[in-house]
Amino acid sequence: MSTRTQVIDLRSDTVTKPTEAMRRAMYEAEVADDTYDGDPTVIRLQEMAAEKTGKEASLFVVSGTMGNLLGVLVNTHPGQEVILGDQAHQFLWEVGGIARIAGCVTHTVPFHRGWLDPAEVEAAIRPAAREATTTGLICVEDTSNFGGGTVIPPEHLAKICNVAKRYDLSMHMDGARLFNAVVASGQPAENFTQYVDTVAFCLSKGLGAPFGGMLCGSKELVERAISFRQMLGGGMRQAGVMAAAGIVALETGIDRLAEDHANAKKLALGLADRFPGCCDPDIVETNLFHIHVPAFGVSGQELADHLAKEGILVFPGDPRMRLATHCMISSEDIDAVLNAFDGLLERR
Ligand SMILES: *Cc1c(COP(=O)(O)O)cnc(C)c1O
Repeated sequence: MSTRTQVIDLRSDTVTKPTEAMRRAMYEAEVADDTYDGDPTVIRLQEMAAEKTGKEASLFVVSGTMGNLLGVLVNTHPGQEVILGDQAHQFLWEVGGIARIAGCVTHTVPFHRGWLDPAEVEAAIRPAAREATTTGLICVEDTSNFGGGTVIPPEHLAKICNVAKRYDLSMHMDGARLFNAVVASGQPAENFTQYVDTVAFCLSKGLGAPFGGMLCGSKELVERAISFRQMLGGGMRQAGVMAAAGIVALETGIDRLAEDHANAKKLALGLADRFPGCCDPDIVETNLFHIHVPAFGVSGQELADHLAKEGILVFPGDPRMRLATHCMISSEDIDAVLNAFDGLLERR
């Protein structure tokens, strides 16, 4: 049994709690009714997010999921088809909002660890015809979540964008972890976002804010998104209290992501050393990666139970389990996690 008082939560980077600086900024935030007059703190956050992503404008939204749904709503008409990866978060984990609210049909293509193949995307496009379901939008995800935290590099996004342009289609990026891609690649965000009409990112994941996301794009698209956000019940009043934490997240959370990437790499290297074949450290690029549970000689549930006794939380995936690092996990915590895994070797 562990003597640590803090659990080490490897389930997701959404579990991070707001820092002192965020709580202070929230307390001190200047606020107003955002739907009537514009909340000054929300406006500041929106200006910052637009600047950081190289887009003209941005909109503060409740969650990454809302940002993605707004991205679909502003770029399509009901009845159109949206092309996206078959393991994309937008397809698997957003409760069918694309169909139920945007009224669009999803057309999935293989999600090669998060990479869409431009030829497969092109083959999925249906030409416009009076009787046909026509394609309206292509969605990409960067970094990819269920692809294992992979960075889809700008050169590859350019290839998908070329296909989109040839068929006059819009592009949306689920950039929930866009800044992980930015930090891991060392390239500015604009290099990624220049290829898409809209990009949604989360303030509440590795950036550490308690809440919220941003939808970024042209002034015209963001203007349309405001009205759809209202429809979804996402028009907020004195939202500066929440936006203030988002500002601190953007100011202090981006460069720090490099620590999460280093910790994920350290964990992957340590695990691969102990349990050959359990993961490939070479492909660990950011703060998420998958382990292959059979390599540990236990089931996903047994592994989760064993770690829980040591004060370490994971989701019991099987045969694939995702591990996530974030600002509440230190390099010393990774040593403790590796020690807990050593306990499995002793059991053998
Ligand atoms: C978490 C996540 C989302 C949704 O964000 P929420 O803020 O949890 O709604 C969207 N896309 C990806 C890739 C994610 O990992």
